[in-house]
Amino acid sequence: MTDTPLKLLNSLTRQLEVFEPVHPGEARVYTCGPTVYNYPHIGNMRAYVFADILGRTLSWKGYDLTHIINITDVGHLTDDADAGEDKMEKMAAQKAQSIWDIAKHYTEAFWADVKALNIREPAKWSVATDYIDEMIAFAKSIAEEHCYLLDSGLYFDVSTVEDYGKLARAVTGEGAEESRGRIDTVEGKRNAADFAIWRKTPAGETRQMEWDSPWGRGAPGWHLECSVMGEKLLGFPFDIHTGGIDHREIHHPNEIAQNQAFCGCGGLDVATHSGARIWMHNNFLVERSGKMSKSAGEFLRLQLLVDKGYHPLAYRMMCLQAHYRSELEFSWEGLSAALTRLKRIVMAVEQLKAKAETIPPTSHSEVPRYLNTFGDWISDDLNTGVPLTILEQILSMKSAAPKERLQAVEIMDSVLGLDLLNLSRTDLRIRPKNAQVTEEEIEAELLRRKEARAAKDFATSDAIRDSLGEKGVEVMDGDPLGWEWKV
Ligand code: AMP
Ligand code: ZN
Repeated sequence: MTDTPLKLLNSLTRQLEVFEPVHPGEARVYTCGPTVYNYPHIGNMRAYVFADILGRTLSWKGYDLTHIINITDVGHLTDDADAGEDKMEKMAAQKAQSIWDIAKHYTEAFWADVKALNIREPAKWSVATDYIDEMIAFAKSIAEEHCYLLDSGLYFDVSTVEDYGKLARAVTGEGAEESRGRIDTVEGKRNAADFAIWRKTPAGETRQMEWDSPWGRGAPGWHLECSVMGEKLLGFPFDIHTGGIDHREIHHPNEIAQNQAFCGCGGLDVATHSGARIWMHNNFLVERSGKMSKSAGEFLRLQLLVDKGYHPLAYRMMCLQAHYRSELEFSWEGLSAALTRLKRIVMAVEQLKAKAETIPPTSHSEVPRYLNTFGDWISDDLNTGVPLTILEQILSMKSAAPKERLQAVEIMDSVLGLDLLNLSRTDLRIRPKNAQVTEEEIEAELLRRKEARAAKDFATSDAIRDSLGEKGVEVMDGDPLGWEWKV
């Protein structure tokens, strides 16, 4: 089953490439982590569900995985290029708290979402501020040949490396000049796309987070952090670097330029000169009303979904139904459908578990063939949509023994990560925060209604249904899932 070669779309070459590890038997993956100035929205979490599917697939294929996800607690400005304020400093000022407290609070909130979405822990959460010395050493090693000093900091001259911006479609394709023009121009910059790798604290000011450096007291640029942590923890070149598609435009081209400078490498016709063999990007989760935002409208945090009665793994299911390279539109109807699908699967797994010990295996079974097909699809650039239907087919397969089917589910779920062997039907039934009745009250009312119906007392039965309806409980007669009610 694991024989099909894993093919992944490399954003740098725009080609599907067979995964061949740099170090035999190993897979080293770096994922750009969150900037911990606020809660992550569910769009951000799509990036980590995607990275998790990648990591799980590599593990399932037998590679010894080292996955690094960083925590950005310094240096990310409100604009991905060089404009605006430091996101962390801005939030700390708004909340009148120390940056360190802000970072701690939102890092923990991020980890809670990671856990709720059954995303596996990486080998290390690398925190940017733990690598300041290494960042200064990295910057020093490239400063003379590739950087220049302005009043506001040390800048990287993008004309000193070959193929700058190859990753960014907009910069290399049509509209390149237009796109370059959008990048903020700091007085004295040699090229519009040049970026600060060290930002000096303006004279007369102090920042909450600042360090001494050969270029003055200040803080590292955001792009420098990922170059340094990738190099330190995984070594250049490592196998795969991931992030959301927005990173294809500025953050990753800048990381790549620094990596080329550090390696003393040539152009990007050789992908490994970029620091990684493969660069992968997940597409965005979008809202009908526009780009997902932490400030405008309803802030779509995972906790909001739970408050409304959705199990977090319903959101994971929603992500898996789409290919990671496709844009995914968020809607509450879509989330409800994903939850219903997850409930059906969980109930089928519960039934299988109940039967698995008692019914002996059959001699001829279709399960291995289905598992092979599952593997083929996952290996095709992490297609998760079709594998979900294969999982459902195995669950409803009558010809194979429950035990064998259950083992197949376990294998498939090691890749999909829906926690199918542990979830129960009751886990998935979450009471919305604003619900006016308790589960016990609902169940008691439904029992009374059942008795009334059995006695053909339809007036009472209807009255009970209406009164539940007023409290926001919808009674679902004839629900094939046997779910009977939803709030
Ligand atoms: P940030 O904390 O802004 O650095 O973002 C964390 C991760 O979320 C990055 O990999 C972004 O590319 C990704 N991201 C941001 N918005 C979305 C979205 N709406 N859908 C999917 N990924 C996103
Ligand atoms: Zn990064």
